[in-house]
Amino acid sequence: MNRVHLLLFFFVICVFFNCAPYVKKMRKDNLVRIAVVCGVDKVDISGIKDKKFYKNRQVLLNDAFPLYFSPNKGVVLVNGKKYRGNLEIRKTKEQIWVINILNIEDYLKGVVPCEIGRISQAIFEAAKAQAVAARTYTWAHLNQYEDLGFDLYATIRDQVYTGMSGENELTNLAVEQTKGQILTYKNTPIEAKYHSTCGGRTADFNDAWTGNAPPYLKSVSCSYCKNSPHYEWAKVFTKREFFVNLRTELKKIGKKIPGGELIKNIKLIKNRKSKRVLKLVVITEGKEYTIPGYHIRTVLGDKIDPGGLLKSNYLTLRTKGDKVIIEGKGWGHGVGMCQFGAIEMARQGKNYKQILYHYYSGTRVKQIK
Ligand SMILES: [Zn+2]
Repeated sequence: MNRVHLLLFFFVICVFFNCAPYVKKMRKDNLVRIAVVCGVDKVDISGIKDKKFYKNRQVLLNDAFPLYFSPNKGVVLVNGKKYRGNLEIRKTKEQIWVINILNIEDYLKGVVPCEIGRISQAIFEAAKAQAVAARTYTWAHLNQYEDLGFDLYATIRDQVYTGMSGENELTNLAVEQTKGQILTYKNTPIEAKYHSTCGGRTADFNDAWTGNAPPYLKSVSCSYCKNSPHYEWAKVFTKREFFVNLRTELKKIGKKIPGGELIKNIKLIKNRKSKRVLKLVVITEGKEYTIPGYHIRTVLGDKIDPGGLLKSNYLTLRTKGDKVIIEGKGWGHGVGMCQFGAIEMARQGKNYKQILYHYYSGTRVKQIK
């Protein structure tokens, strides 16, 4: 093999390996299946079924499932809400589930505005960064709920998706201008985590979850989210409220402190780099109860917080008189892209790749199709 052949050989091998991770997951027409309605006993559908148009056809539990509806003039309606693509209506666990099946690029048009919020031309690059992050997340989670017959939920559990009702011109353009681009690490789509506001420094993967931490999800500084309403926050409890709450929440995660056992102290053990709380240690007379990082937001959260979760685990705890004060920074798990940070980076003239590379260390944007 001479040098030219050798180079050609390497070229072919590289092309082959570059494509391999994506080809495995490619589907016809790049379709994705989104659960837009989960576990109800009736739903209204408009669309074409067996070549006939139905307007607000009520689907009930005694229908013959699965049912398929295709779009009329480009849209199907679910309880009056417009969606692109087709619908599959299934009966799972004795309830009705509506699955919206559509092209990934069309799906993203309904995700990006929900995830990044209101944007303008001045922060357009942030919408493009969000489009690439959301596309990457989608590709990495295909077949996620195979037993239930779909890929992603249309909620915060995966990515918020409201169909055509959420779309706007600028975010659609952001999806179109980044068409087929995903973020990769060593030629594999990354786990593109993102959150509202980091509070000055993003979190390490293990500050939020257990398991192997991907090398690109490590804490980086972020001087861009200071304008976020969630940059700094405080929660004040009376000592009584705080300790009653603490005992109740601890019990829920299987750490019951007997009624007579007094809580003497609470220690926070932090990640020195990211400043996130890794462990919360409750010290009673003679005993210690350790709560791992990913439970701290549940244990210190209360009913008025969204999902019962404290805004973040980037916090300090102090007492003043009969009060317990939690002072925190940021909103969300803090891992990966900080959305308020991305918006400010765009405002300061950074492009979408610079934004993504800042928050996901060592990654590369690649074209999948
Ligand atoms: Zn930030």
